[in-house]
Amino acid sequence: MLRRQSQRESAARTYARSLPIVPVRARGLTIEGADGRRYLDCLSGAGTLALGHNHPVVLEAVRRVLDSEAPLQVLDLATPVKDAFVTELFTNLPAELAADARIQFCGPAGTDAVEAALRLVRTATGRTGLLAFTGAYHGMTTGSLDASGGAEGVRVTRLPYPSDHRCPFGVGGAEGAALCARWTEHLLDDPKGGVPAPAGMILEPVQGEGGVVPAPDDWLRRMREITAARGIPLIADEVQTGVGRTGAFWGVDHSGVVPDVMVLSKAIGGSLPLAVVVYRGGLDVWRPGAHAGTFRGNQLAMAAGTATLAYVRENRLAERAAGLGARMLAALHGMTAGHPYVGDVRGRGLMIGLELVDPEAPDHDGGPAPAAPHLAAAVRRACLDRGLIVELGGRHSSVVRLLPPLTLTDEQAAAVLDRLADALDAVAR
Ligand code: PMP
Repeated sequence: MLRRQSQRESAARTYARSLPIVPVRARGLTIEGADGRRYLDCLSGAGTLALGHNHPVVLEAVRRVLDSEAPLQVLDLATPVKDAFVTELFTNLPAELAADARIQFCGPAGTDAVEAALRLVRTATGRTGLLAFTGAYHGMTTGSLDASGGAEGVRVTRLPYPSDHRCPFGVGGAEGAALCARWTEHLLDDPKGGVPAPAGMILEPVQGEGGVVPAPDDWLRRMREITAARGIPLIADEVQTGVGRTGAFWGVDHSGVVPDVMVLSKAIGGSLPLAVVVYRGGLDVWRPGAHAGTFRGNQLAMAAGTATLAYVRENRLAERAAGLGARMLAALHGMTAGHPYVGDVRGRGLMIGLELVDPEAPDHDGGPAPAAPHLAAAVRRACLDRGLIVELGGRHSSVVRLLPPLTLTDEQAAAVLDRLADALDAVAR
């Protein structure tokens, strides 16, 4: 089956290459392949599965819509299903934003919502420039690619994102983050800096694809102050960090920062495609029809999303993610201390990364050891052999990432760590 599909699919496909599995059944943390093998899934549909696979409350919500004979395609018309989704989402938004926020359904992917956010702030400010960060990932369409860190963006000023392990200024910690903030301020205020008038600043509270790099709370608060003082809308891309993933309902909640625009997707659709932007009412300057698209009313995704958001809220899964994530991080630090190839362990909540490095690489110049994508790929492969699915990330694909469901039990967490430890041992041998 794999070979038949591979012959037809574009070379651009990625997961099918790194995960040669044919999933036929899934529940919670577990995926079962056509060959009967079972895997612990710490990729979670790239972070879409806050409640794991096929959670009963999600299935029940979807079935209810299917059984009700409600129309499944209604463009962006009002429906009871949509009303319930908006009500539940707004219950969970930062109160200051919820007070006067507008919501816009985009669709169906995260990158669509990023595009809408970028167009929104450009329309609202009449400016075009964008402030974005090194290491960022916002999607694969033209505007979101510009904003992402890998490519040189058109009309984008690239700013340093703080990182303890690979600090742009080589110092790390609070000092490195303060230098990043000062650099940003200086660039914006230097009349000779050549920064085009910014329409907005876009950032991730924890960079996910960039290799699990949590932004320090103080730095995030400085970004809020810097943008507010200059009338620059702040866009938080919470596509990956939202819905409890980082140990708070939204990634920005740790710092108390309230952005002007929030970009939401992945988990808000409870595993089905859904993407929205939420923004302060004052930014709502669109003419009717100015930003449209056909698939903005996915009723099944809204129902699955409502069930997911409510379940996370009612069961305090963000707090659970904070506690369990901290314990897993501590265990990983202990487990990898002295490991020759694990250069860093970091994360927030249930968004965890291990950076693989190669101290013996010929280009090691005495600073942090060079990133080792070949070792990260070997760890992923060794994990798969042991029935554990993990993801890679980071600029060099050298970071092994864990994004387990927020419903992960202590026993499951222990099993994940055991298999990962075993895989790391195998690679070090
Ligand atoms: N923003 C962030 C922070 C993401 O992590 C992603 C996807 N990994 C996107 C945007 C793009 O979402 P999508 O792949 O659904 O277009």
